[in-house]
Amino acid sequence: MVTKRTSGPLRLDEDLLVACVSCGLCLPHCPTYRATGEETASPRGRISLMRAIEFDGLAVDDTAVGFLEKCVMCRACETACPSGVQFGRLMEDSRSALVLNHRSAPRWLRFALGLLPHHRLMLAGSSLLGVAQRLHLVPAALSARLGLPPRLSIRRERLQPTATGAADADAWLFTGCVMDAWQRDVHASALRVMQATGARVALPGAGGSCCGALHMHAGLTAGASALAAKVMDAFPGDAPIVVDSAGCGAALQDYGHLLNNERARIFSARVIDVCAWLALRLDQLPAVTSAQRFASTVAVQDPCHLRHVQRAHLPVRSVLGRYADLMELDDEGRCCGAGGAYSIMQPELAGIIRTEKVAVIGRTGAQVVASGNPGCSMWLSGAGLDVRHPVTIIDEVLRGAGHVPG
Ligand code: SF4
Ligand code: SF4
Repeated sequence: MVTKRTSGPLRLDEDLLVACVSCGLCLPHCPTYRATGEETASPRGRISLMRAIEFDGLAVDDTAVGFLEKCVMCRACETACPSGVQFGRLMEDSRSALVLNHRSAPRWLRFALGLLPHHRLMLAGSSLLGVAQRLHLVPAALSARLGLPPRLSIRRERLQPTATGAADADAWLFTGCVMDAWQRDVHASALRVMQATGARVALPGAGGSCCGALHMHAGLTAGASALAAKVMDAFPGDAPIVVDSAGCGAALQDYGHLLNNERARIFSARVIDVCAWLALRLDQLPAVTSAQRFASTVAVQDPCHLRHVQRAHLPVRSVLGRYADLMELDDEGRCCGAGGAYSIMQPELAGIIRTEKVAVIGRTGAQVVASGNPGCSMWLSGAGLDVRHPVTIIDEVLRGAGHVPG
């Protein structure tokens, strides 16, 4: 089907742009609307702005760009919308057009994102930063602004795959860029838990690191497309590609749309969140006694890219619930404010959104929070919460019960 594009500067899909009926049912679910109470910070307001730019010739000035950039891209408005408005597509296309017109993505952000695919450099730089933290050379305010863990790893655990590649793998584990540098322990846990089901798991080679999710968020579509082509080469064969970062998983599942070719669509169909993959193998997961279950109650925080984008948040409950007592949040999966680089770009709004989330978590009385996205876990940890990936909790229980080495 041929997409009819608007003729204004944003060049949006016209069918998507006119789909909104302005009912406002999405407003209570929008974190930026809740934080500001302003229509311009709501999904409906942003769509009205896009229409005014595209159909009525409204100037794309700093005010208009600011309204668009304040969106967290959480896509909670999509799951709330009865008309099926694809807000994420509209916002991604808008940002991409702003970048092409030099109205978005500052130079420093492009530079920082340009470093992500250089994996060895990332690991070395991250270790250096860890040393600087221990020498108290990194100001606390800068750490908080960047969402850095308080003690970055200087040395990382060596990952132990049990398959060498396409010929013998039952599954691949996607390892990524920032997450591999800052949260390698989560990959190690994911690998052990996956292998506890009897699966042979392979790791990608060079080129399979940065998925381009942050580039997509920032509207740097050409950069994201180039990275997508490299990532696809790093995962040959047809085994599932298991992802323990909700944001990366959502980006990898979007390659079919991004590259718009059959190979990318087949690749995207292989991508699955780690808990969704484990849920398909529940019978193979080791059982534990009630005395061996996780000692603390766990509040489940659904990352937006798992709940609203991948729509794969329920398997976390069936898998983690075998090993821990779970508590639900009563906010219907609202955003925590991390949003990729959002907490760096829009710290004030991100802070307000996080405060609301922390209060919601506090109401559960749980001591530990489970979250399957590195951005959310670092951002919420910065507010003093004990946030862990679901697989690290399962790994801890299985190790305690002697089911995995450790
Ligand atoms: S994506 Fe999230 S922040 Fe953006 S308009 Fe939708 S609900 Fe609001
Ligand atoms: S995006 Fe959907 S829910 Fe929100 S105002 Fe438009 S039609 Fe209504």
